[in-house]
Amino acid sequence: MQVLESCPSCENGDLVDVDLSTNLTDTHKAIIGSNVIWEANYAYCPCCELMFARNRQDTEEIDDYYAAFPEVEKRSYTVYPLPQQFIDVQEKFSERLIGNVEKAGLIRPDMSVLNIRCEYGVHLAHLRDKFGVQDLYGLDHFETNMQYAREDLGLSNIGYLDPYHVHVPFERQSFDLVLANHLMTHALDPMALLAHLRSLVAPGGAIVFYNELDHMGLMDMRKMYRRGVISYHKQLLTRNSLQNMLKRAGYRFDFLDYDTTGIKWASGRHSMAIAACPDTPASVSELTAPAAENLYQAYLDGYDRHAPNKLLRTVKKALGMEQISA
Ligand SMILES: [Zn+2]
Repeated sequence: MQVLESCPSCENGDLVDVDLSTNLTDTHKAIIGSNVIWEANYAYCPCCELMFARNRQDTEEIDDYYAAFPEVEKRSYTVYPLPQQFIDVQEKFSERLIGNVEKAGLIRPDMSVLNIRCEYGVHLAHLRDKFGVQDLYGLDHFETNMQYAREDLGLSNIGYLDPYHVHVPFERQSFDLVLANHLMTHALDPMALLAHLRSLVAPGGAIVFYNELDHMGLMDMRKMYRRGVISYHKQLLTRNSLQNMLKRAGYRFDFLDYDTTGIKWASGRHSMAIAACPDTPASVSELTAPAAENLYQAYLDGYDRHAPNKLLRTVKKALGMEQISA
């Protein structure tokens, strides 16, 4: 195991320890039966606003760690055929995601697309069936998703997602559009992953990051105290901390926000996409400082209302906000 002594995004070493254990005893640790297999050890970076797990698996631990992923996450959809409810939610989400990608002008019939953590290939099938895109590739963790993508949706280029290196097991190694689902939240080395993703984008191409702000959504909805953090989530991203990470890695980007009307959190504004193109890396001095009011809303409010704990006090103290009461 490695224990990070500095921020994995901006390298700042002046960190605030965050105790997420209160009321999250089952969720901040990976638990199988009564065995705790992993603990996170959270910290907050006052420089770039990133909250992250200090404890990280070494490369030789990753296969075992991810072998436990379906069991720890208790994924109800890891069955074949896939549950209809899962498909219905994904279809709805895909309408919005691909709709926004189209609005951003990122879809052409002759382009190549790689969807990393593609679930059962819903977005790829959507691009094929609605926009005539043919050169489609997908990677996912779950065999049941891959089986559905291949057999039910007829997608031929579907491979296993290796969670650390994110190898692309296809002859094609560069893509006009990369759809990256929930990758930065899980990344053991987020800056190395961003560098790798840059290398997968063809000249003039783009990456769309989506489903990265789950924790912000949960905290805004004041459900964080109940839902907690799963132990595979290494970065608990806000809009600001994600922007800073992308800037540091040399990306130029726009937010593709969703219409939030009537959408529940899982497919709402916190699952928004960001389109990014490789650019020049930003220096630490060019990062956007933490926005105290956003942090107050996102990190603190839900806890303050439902589960006052050390997280609230440590983060408020870091921001000089001790005087604010819920
Ligand atoms: Zn930082």
